[in-house]
Amino acid sequence: MLLLPVVTRFAFSSIYGKEVERTHEEWIVALNRLPKANIYISGGEPLLFTGLPELVNGLDRHKILGIVTNATAKTNVYERITRKIHMNLSFHREFISEDRFLEKIDELRKVGRFHLNVNLVATRENVSMTAKVEKLLTDHHVGLHIDPFVDPDLAFEYTPQEMAILSRYLTPDRRTSKDRPDLDNHALKECSAGQNYINIMPDGTVFRCGNGFNYYHSPLRGRLLEVGPHAPYDPGFFLMGNIFDPTFTLDKKSVCCELPCTQGCDRDMATIRCL
Ligand code: SF4
Repeated sequence: MLLLPVVTRFAFSSIYGKEVERTHEEWIVALNRLPKANIYISGGEPLLFTGLPELVNGLDRHKILGIVTNATAKTNVYERITRKIHMNLSFHREFISEDRFLEKIDELRKVGRFHLNVNLVATRENVSMTAKVEKLLTDHHVGLHIDPFVDPDLAFEYTPQEMAILSRYLTPDRRTSKDRPDLDNHALKECSAGQNYINIMPDGTVFRCGNGFNYYHSPLRGRLLEVGPHAPYDPGFFLMGNIFDPTFTLDKKSVCCELPCTQGCDRDMATIRCL
C-alpha cells in the first residue's frame, strides 16, 4: 500500500512547495520500480497537481484504490482520467455550496468511469449538519462516509452531545481520537510500516507511516520523541529515503516501534503487533 499525497495549497505546501513537484512521467518511472502495489492518492487536493490524470492513467502496473478530491477541479480535468476508479469526494462545506456539490456529483457520474462516494470530516462545525447532509446525498443516490476529526496533535475531543450525534455514523474502523491509544502508551510493537505500507510526499520523500510524518514535522507531536523508556527517539527512524532515488527499496522485514501510534490510516494498513 502506498499513500501518495501531492502538493496542495494547504498545509502540505508549507513543507513541500510547488517547486519540488515532479512531472507525472517521473512519478510513473519511480513508482513502477516498486513491487505491484495498491495506491491511494490523497492530499490536500491531489488535482492541484496538473499531471494527476496522466499519472493515474500511467500507473497501470498498480491498482489505484482511490483518489480523495474536494471535487472543485473542472470536470474536464476529471474526464482526462481514463481508468475506472473509486473517487472519494471530500465535501468541504466551507469551499463549495451544497447545490454546486450536488451538480458536480451529477457531472462526475456522467463521466461513467467513477465509483463515487462522499466523505465528510466531522469537524465541530459539521457535526450538527450530518443528518442534513446524509439526507441530501441519500436523495442523490450517493453514499456518505463520516470520518471523525482527528487533530494530528490530538488536542481535540468531542463533547458527549457531539458523540451522541456521531455515534450512528462512525464505523468500527473509524473510532474517535479519544478511543485511540493514549500518548503515554510506549508499548513495544512489531510494525510492517515500511515493508508493506509507505507514505510518499510530494518531493518523493518516503515516510514509513503518516505518524512518522507528524513526528518529523509537527512540533507538538515531536515533543513525544523526548519522552518514553528509550527517549530521545530519532525522527530519522521514520525516513526511508526518496522514491526518485533509483536505489530506493522497501524494508525487507518489520520494525520495532515504541512510539504512541495514533493515526487511523496507519493502523488500518500496517500490521501492528504488540510484543
Ligand atoms: S507502530 Fe505506528 S508509529 Fe510506529 S512505525 Fe508503525 S505505524 Fe508508525
